[in-house]
Amino acid sequence: MTFNGIKQMASETKLPLHEAALVAELSETGNNPEETRAQLGEFLRVILEESEKQYGKVQETLTGLTGTNAKKVYDRGVLYHSPFTHVAIVASLSICESNASMGRVVACPTAGASGVIPGVFYALAKENEIPFDHLLPGYILASAIGNVIATKATLAGAAGGCQAEIGSAAAMAAGALAYLSGGDAEMVDSAAALVLKSLLGLVCDPVGGFVEVPCVKRNAIAVTAAISAAELALSGVSSVIPFDETVDAMRRIGRTLPMELRETGLGGLATTPTAKKAVDRILTRFQKS
Ligand code: SF4
Repeated sequence: MTFNGIKQMASETKLPLHEAALVAELSETGNNPEETRAQLGEFLRVILEESEKQYGKVQETLTGLTGTNAKKVYDRGVLYHSPFTHVAIVASLSICESNASMGRVVACPTAGASGVIPGVFYALAKENEIPFDHLLPGYILASAIGNVIATKATLAGAAGGCQAEIGSAAAMAAGALAYLSGGDAEMVDSAAALVLKSLLGLVCDPVGGFVEVPCVKRNAIAVTAAISAAELALSGVSSVIPFDETVDAMRRIGRTLPMELRETGLGGLATTPTAKKAVDRILTRFQKS
């Protein structure tokens, strides 16, 4: 599946882009569009429910390295961002800290990158009061963008680095936000491409192999990047490199990343002195308990 293929399907059938994505999936996989819609609707329901439940709460995470960030940002309130972006950041941190404390998340596209999409969708629901039925087309499109990446490249940090996880989540969120804000197919393409281009080369270097540092806060930063990309695209700023080609570049970059920077915890931030001390402390605590 390619994003160009989805755009072409929409143009030939005159279907809305998200409906064209469902038809494109049907023709490639045989998946029934109504079943896919219902399943995605269930995922979106869980995302919104969990975002509401965990919003701004303290969580007891496995390592203790994260768990209080959502509450800190929630308590501090809006500083420089808009209320929309503030809600998106808090929701993103809340979901990721819930994931780190074994809470229920929708891996979209992965558990480590599970905060970016909830950030955008919860902000649309809470701050802009967009009803569920109006959000679902955006979630269907986000899923199609993820499918394009999965088909052409990878969504796994172990294979392609964090660009494939949080980079993909940001592309899905940016494309959905542009679409739900009235953007046309080219704007959606640009929103997804602009943010993925900005996260190309992002390595996977979790401290101790735990999906907490840098993952949790990286989701919150990525959600702001996704919102920025949608805002650029909706303003008429187009990506010179289209989304499909950006994904191809991501695949090539992922293949050249050394094993140390692909979810092994053996490179990048994971090998800093502070990370090593933190892991020693965590392991000592585990041994005592
Ligand atoms: S750093 Fe690695 S484990 Fe953490 S979110 Fe990114 S890809 Fe996933």
